[in-house]
Amino acid sequence: MVFHSRQGKRLQATTLTCRTSATFLCRTCSKENVMSEQLQIAIVGGGIGGLTAALALRARGLNVTIFEQAGALREIGAGVSIQPNAALLLERIGLTDGIRKIGSAITGLLHRTSVGELIDTSARTSTGVQGYNVHRAEFLKLLIDAQPEGTLHFDHRLSAAKETNGHVQLTFSNGETVDADIVIGADGIHSALKRQIGLKTYPSSEGIMAYRGLIPSERLSWANDIGGRMSMWIGKGRSFLCYPVSGGRLMNMVAFVPTNLDSEESWTAPGDVRALGAEYAGWDDPVLETIGALDQTFRWGIYDRAPLPYWSTDRMTLLGDAAHPMVPHLGQGAAQAIEDGFTLAVLLDGAKRKDVPKRLKAYENLRIERTSRIQAVARDTGRFYRAEYENASERDRLMGKWMSTAGWIRGHDAEQIAEEALLLASRDEAIE
Ligand code: FAD
Repeated sequence: MVFHSRQGKRLQATTLTCRTSATFLCRTCSKENVMSEQLQIAIVGGGIGGLTAALALRARGLNVTIFEQAGALREIGAGVSIQPNAALLLERIGLTDGIRKIGSAITGLLHRTSVGELIDTSARTSTGVQGYNVHRAEFLKLLIDAQPEGTLHFDHRLSAAKETNGHVQLTFSNGETVDADIVIGADGIHSALKRQIGLKTYPSSEGIMAYRGLIPSERLSWANDIGGRMSMWIGKGRSFLCYPVSGGRLMNMVAFVPTNLDSEESWTAPGDVRALGAEYAGWDDPVLETIGALDQTFRWGIYDRAPLPYWSTDRMTLLGDAAHPMVPHLGQGAAQAIEDGFTLAVLLDGAKRKDVPKRLKAYENLRIERTSRIQAVARDTGRFYRAEYENASERDRLMGKWMSTAGWIRGHDAEQIAEEALLLASRDEAIE
């Protein structure tokens, strides 16, 4: 597979090749991946963050292997929006054509009250980059298909990571062990690598449950009217979001409702369609029609977590939800995971073994402030969506404030920022 770097360089992605007798790897899969003089990077977790990080690292000629606990791609029935700050980066590794085929271009965002009155969003700013809504399983398949052969190892659940003498030994619950120079934990909210690094997060319930579902668009009389726009209804204590995925064939629904249940964070926990319907009694017709057209729904309990104080050791770091889990009200979780991967790729490009601790620290420093800020905006956005505004102008003022985040959140170029930071750091080193 040929990738294109930001500068348009053609880079040939290869599987791990034998150049020395030193050992990397999977004593597993009985593949003897043998270590070259290049740094060997192991990614734990093959979700959106791990898979895109692997492609970004490969695009810069780095050697990377992914270890995923699942036995195969899981069919998660949910949509995910790829916002402009992520779409910009995915374009640079040649994924845009594939995303266009499976996705729906986002052409706007319509906000309505619970009874369907339009809320003024004229303050909205555009980033000039096209975002897309995609079906999560289709997007994951696209990312998996783009991996060079031998990169992704399923059935590898990390159980321990031991860092000694400039390398890390990973142990998986299938009994296999792997040595790597750098380990990236992209293993999600309940990250095992985070625990191995000695970090802990404390989830606090938002008192909110997200019901999710996918509905064939042909069942919805209103589906054609919105085109590629995302539609959000906001009412007392709850909201209802719909957007098309799978090239418009399916409508994705996410309904945020209050709860006092202690529900798990799970893509597969079943919900009750009738209970969901009861939450939206008296709402706008398209909301009721959508719930009425559901065959099944799934529920996800929303938990918030404070930012971590640090993410890295000398040889291990975290990305995506493992590093900065955020509530989903801003639709930025996957985008931030993608930004992390591209940042790491820039900072590890050309790094020698001795540089690794500094580069991982630089990565953490570059990302932790931004992601912590975005975690806070996501939290505030949820509060905004749940509030009941008797005073429409106050609501519109807050909506305008939220829209103004488009510039610094969705207009961000993580790769460029990392390149500038690396250039500055190398100039400083040259001066020292
Ligand atoms: P994950 O997607 O959780 O992937 C982690 C991977 O690691 C999994 O494949 C898992 O099997 C594997 N793994 C876990 N433990 C181990 C182990 N011990 N060993 C090996 N492998 C392991 N974000 C957006 O950007 N846009 C949206 O529209 C959006 N909508 C959302 C809607 C809802 C309801 C929710 C809950 C979240 C939403 N998000 C959205 C957030 C987004 O889903 C996450 O931020 C994103 O999936 C994080 O990706 P990740 O790769 O870090 O983690």
